[in-house]
Amino acid sequence: MDISYILNELGEDRDSYFNAVAPPIVQTSNFACRTVEAMRYALQHEAEVDFYTRGNNPTVDMLEKKIAALEGTEHAIAFGSGIAAVSAAVLSQVRAGDHVVCVKKPYTWTNKLMQRFLPRFGVEVTMVDGTDPANYLAATQPNTVLYFLESPNSFTFELQDIAAIAALAKERGICTVIDNSFASPLFQNPASMGIDLVVHSATKYIGGHSDAMGGVVCGTRQMINKIFETEFMTLGAVLSPHDAWLLLRGLRTLPIRMERIAQTTRQVVAYLQTREEIEEIMWPFLPAHPQYQLAKAQMKNNTGQFTIRLKTDKIEEVDLFCDSLQHFLMAASWGGHESLIYPAAAAYKSGNYKSSLPFTLVRFYIGLEEPEYLIKDIEQALEKMKGR
Ligand SMILES: *Cc1c(COP(=O)(O)O)cnc(C)c1O
Repeated sequence: MDISYILNELGEDRDSYFNAVAPPIVQTSNFACRTVEAMRYALQHEAEVDFYTRGNNPTVDMLEKKIAALEGTEHAIAFGSGIAAVSAAVLSQVRAGDHVVCVKKPYTWTNKLMQRFLPRFGVEVTMVDGTDPANYLAATQPNTVLYFLESPNSFTFELQDIAAIAALAKERGICTVIDNSFASPLFQNPASMGIDLVVHSATKYIGGHSDAMGGVVCGTRQMINKIFETEFMTLGAVLSPHDAWLLLRGLRTLPIRMERIAQTTRQVVAYLQTREEIEEIMWPFLPAHPQYQLAKAQMKNNTGQFTIRLKTDKIEEVDLFCDSLQHFLMAASWGGHESLIYPAAAAYKSGNYKSSLPFTLVRFYIGLEEPEYLIKDIEQALEKMKGR
């Protein structure tokens, strides 16, 4: 399917809403039935009909159809946040007594789900270094039901060999779930590599404007309907029609934003490579990176995140560099129009949380600004850090 068709036409039914170009926000909790027979049908087929917005809503459905098509899956289901989508996908596959193998250092709240939440319900989890698929196999037990992947993963951007891990799982009847948020649905399609459920935080690239939250799980109709009937309807992490509309609006410009972000990121990284204040750039798209070939093979392009390690042993210098940046906002999240940094050093002084990451790491997200504008800013912050 053409990306242009998906983004501009698929799921749009303009005849039914005055030929409006922008779809309506169907801001209703309820849909009425004309007859008992119609209501009987709705109750028996709630996954397929608009009956109650915690189940289906036309504005949300349109978003689901487009993201499923971008990921090349039969179906998708939207949630009120990315972590709700991650949790629902994982919970749909496990019961007490089961075992999960998960990549080490996933997104913070995925980590909490794996390490703190699942064990409360009798689900055991082993975290593995995902850079070698053999580690998934080595951790597999007779009761392993799920492999969880996040590639590239949070903060340090290590990749997992998606096709290899999916193949190991298939041979053993193990389900695979991947968090694909970092790659965007344009630059990596794990279902085509054999992954069963593909999850996105739509808050990030899909929305793209830092003004709405959402999440999506993509998979076969059967697997998505199972999630609908259990985790989706009972936990109720519903995406509001208004936020679905904002995410749909973001989707319209996803290709041009991703292309621009990819290009600017390459320019900023190229500049950083010339600076002696930087010890390391963690970015799988550098030819010297050990996973460069894998990145080229399983991703269509780079995205806007990378992490640098500053060449210093003083946290004050890291603070000074970060505080000196004028055009990078210091914040969590990413995927919007605005460039961001997230310093690992921020986790060091808060007392109640001991970071496992060195304080010299600073994660960058490159947004839509002019490359020179960002590079100049980094340059002056590096000079300040060195007291020049
Ligand atoms: C942000 C993020 C999430 C969580 O998404 P929310 O929309 O914030 O709930 C999950 N996975 C990854 C990789 C993320 O970056």
